[in-house]
Amino acid sequence: MIRIAIANQKGGVGKTTSAINLSTALAAIGWRVLVIDFDPQGNASTGLGIKHEHRRVSAYQVLTGEAALTEGVVKTAVPGLEIIPATVDLSGAEIDLLSIGERTHRLAHVLDTAPPDRWDACLIDCPPSLGLLTVNALVAAHKLMVPLQCEFFALEGLSQLLTTIERVRSRFNPSLSILGVALTMYDRRNRLSDQVADDVREVLGRVVFNTTIPRNVRLSEAPSHGIPALIYDHRCAGSEAYMALAREVIDRLSSKKTFYQSQVSA
Ligand code: ADP
Ligand code: MG
Repeated sequence: MIRIAIANQKGGVGKTTSAINLSTALAAIGWRVLVIDFDPQGNASTGLGIKHEHRRVSAYQVLTGEAALTEGVVKTAVPGLEIIPATVDLSGAEIDLLSIGERTHRLAHVLDTAPPDRWDACLIDCPPSLGLLTVNALVAAHKLMVPLQCEFFALEGLSQLLTTIERVRSRFNPSLSILGVALTMYDRRNRLSDQVADDVREVLGRVVFNTTIPRNVRLSEAPSHGIPALIYDHRCAGSEAYMALAREVIDRLSSKKTFYQSQVSA
């Protein structure tokens, strides 16, 4: 089971939208996927149609060891796609973890208990911070995906994220690598969006996925219906982009090449 964290400490950059639609795209081609909703706001859970009464066990209990990993797993309407949902109590985890041993490795240990062969991939939807939850995700992950919104301050905060990744790599998880940076909410009618996309590609190079996710109203509507955009309207530009991104993800996962390190050590 490949573990992919989706992280960026900025809010509203498309982490959750990417987690939902990438996991759906992977499930659509036959992968068995587990999403871990690691954001107390629970947007990935809501977007995948998990009602609050079906969140009796959440990522919080699984993380603190009150419940086993498999006890937290809930099926979604997408065949092959399951989720460990989040509830607001996850917001207390940042503090509660401080008094628990090995607080940076909780999620890694939990994922080590996953039944072998049950899932092909685990996608972790991180909260908008670089706190202990995100650190747990980075320690547990093999790969990191970073969504960047095509807006003026796109690269702002990236060096902070990279510093965190370097720390996690040197102290806890040397094999963590960046799978790719995904440009999101690209608006082709907006020259600034174009400019930002060009600049980001110039600065970060090949680590940036070729696929750019367009700003697409279907992507923002779908969560209120509790279904992924890829199911809500599989032919919209947003869904097609996420399918293309999934293909790139699979290519990168099966390739020996690395797309990170020197390119993004700025
Ligand atoms: P994050 O998880 O990083 O906070 P979200 O994925 O929740 O970001 O996206 C923030 C908001 O923008 C949400 O309302 C979402 O529906 C919307 N959104 C995300 N990606 C797109 C897109 N490509 N086009 C239009 N709206 C989007
Ligand atoms: Mg989110």
